[in-house]
Amino acid sequence: MTIFWHRRDLRASDNRGLAAAAADGDTVPVFVFDDAVLDHAGDARVRFMLDSLAELREAYRERGSDLVVARGDPAELLPALAAAVDAEAVHWNADYSGLAQERDARVEDALADAGVAAETHHDAVLHEPGTIRTNAGEPYSVYTYFWKKWRDREKPDPFPAPDSGDLADGDALAAGELADALAGEFDIDDALRSDLPSIEDLGFGEPEADVQAGGTAAAHDRLESFRDEPVFSYEADREYPARAGSSRLSPHLKFGTIGIRTVYEATEAAMADARERDERTDDDSETEDDELGPAASSVETFQSQLAWREFYAQVLYFNPEVVSQNYKEYEEPIQWRDDPEELAAWKAGETGYPIVDAGMRQLRDEAWMHNRVRMIVASFLTKDLLIDWRAGYDHFREHLADHDTANDTGGWQWAASTGTDAQPYFRIFNPATQGERYDPDAEYIREYVPELRGVDADAIHDWPDLTDEERTELAPDYADPIVDHGERREQALAMYKRARGEE
Ligand code: FAD
Repeated sequence: MTIFWHRRDLRASDNRGLAAAAADGDTVPVFVFDDAVLDHAGDARVRFMLDSLAELREAYRERGSDLVVARGDPAELLPALAAAVDAEAVHWNADYSGLAQERDARVEDALADAGVAAETHHDAVLHEPGTIRTNAGEPYSVYTYFWKKWRDREKPDPFPAPDSGDLADGDALAAGELADALAGEFDIDDALRSDLPSIEDLGFGEPEADVQAGGTAAAHDRLESFRDEPVFSYEADREYPARAGSSRLSPHLKFGTIGIRTVYEATEAAMADARERDERTDDDSETEDDELGPAASSVETFQSQLAWREFYAQVLYFNPEVVSQNYKEYEEPIQWRDDPEELAAWKAGETGYPIVDAGMRQLRDEAWMHNRVRMIVASFLTKDLLIDWRAGYDHFREHLADHDTANDTGGWQWAASTGTDAQPYFRIFNPATQGERYDPDAEYIREYVPELRGVDADAIHDWPDLTDEERTELAPDYADPIVDHGERREQALAMYKRARGEE
């Protein structure tokens, strides 16, 4: 017998660790609700996770097996389960955050004490942290060079799902003998036969947001519909939040309801189609042979986003402290402002800057936000409100269904000019101009800010510059701007210059 411990890989197919466990012997799949992890979760993510787990358990049951679900400390539960099923090894897929690594080291020690082998696998990324380095052997801190090597490296193929024959029999697992052996320590009968815990049992509530569906089937549907058409115009559409031009695979990649190799394979097939499309539409014979046409270039841009995910995974792996500390060191600490009222207005989407408010309300309503708008709201918090990026990160962590420590700290530190490959401190987004450029017809803004539905796009983009009377007349229920962007921009520059020791 062997055990496979599911964590951020809630799927049976294209799962490297599960495939390895199944090759090793009859596999007992297990998931542990770990309070140390739940402490960092939010309602939306717990909902997505529970839905994904229910589907995963069903997938095992269809194969005549079952998913053992328990709650507690994995360092205690896994050795107990191993003893009960007489397993020689526990397999799992690596998680690259600092907290996860500490936990995994504890589990490994506990298993070693019990004489059980711990086998870890690299599954979540195509190229694991440490395998792509500078020519001097250092991990990359600049994305562009990382990307070139990442792109040119051969990619692994998806792994097959285990056959029923490779999995422990569900009825046998629940048989009296085993349940007796486990009595007291690990109630396997309970773990197998009971329903999954409800969201309330886990200490959370039903999310206010309409969270997208979890599970492998939903993930594959998303991938297929994106690969069918939007991927070919991703480059042109991705920056415009009203166009919904991105894949929305992020919560699935976070919880591993789809394998990254499966996603990449779909992009390779799309690339072949894209080249054909580009050839058919290419009437410009001056295009260089090695230059990608618009469809192929779009597919490549999407692949480059997958590489950003792996870039940030390795940044976090080599610098676990970036979750709470600036990556980039300034001469002096940045003197962030402490302003609970402005922070509350930002969270509520009531800053009087329409694109910022639309983004924050999309987060509240959908537990997801468009990437361009994430950049805008993060810039607004750090460079208009001059509030520490960590306050924004905490809010995102609470509300995003796709919150991922590596990507979230990466995005925030980029916006705050404290990260690896960050926005230079003097490049400060003007939220009105950003809104005008990326949501010219204010469609996205009007969708999430109903108070502005009757207002024309020009007035929406000019909102901070209108007079009080004009604003009251146009949209009496919508907020006045809480700050003056021009003034705050100057203050932000001064704040960063002081931190750089220049003032
Ligand atoms: P697509 O455009 O379809 O991209 C496909 C996948 O590539 C994404 O699902 C994601 O896994 C990856 N990806 C895309 N853009 C990035 C990026 N800039 N950095 C890293 N990976 C990327 N992404 C998260 O997954 N979790 C987070 O918690 C998170 N927090 C962010 C916070 C801030 C302040 C910013 C600016 C960005 C953050 N991002 C985060 C990155 C990005 O916004 C999301 O990955 C993207 O919007 C998800 O939508 P999608 O799946 O449709 O992306």
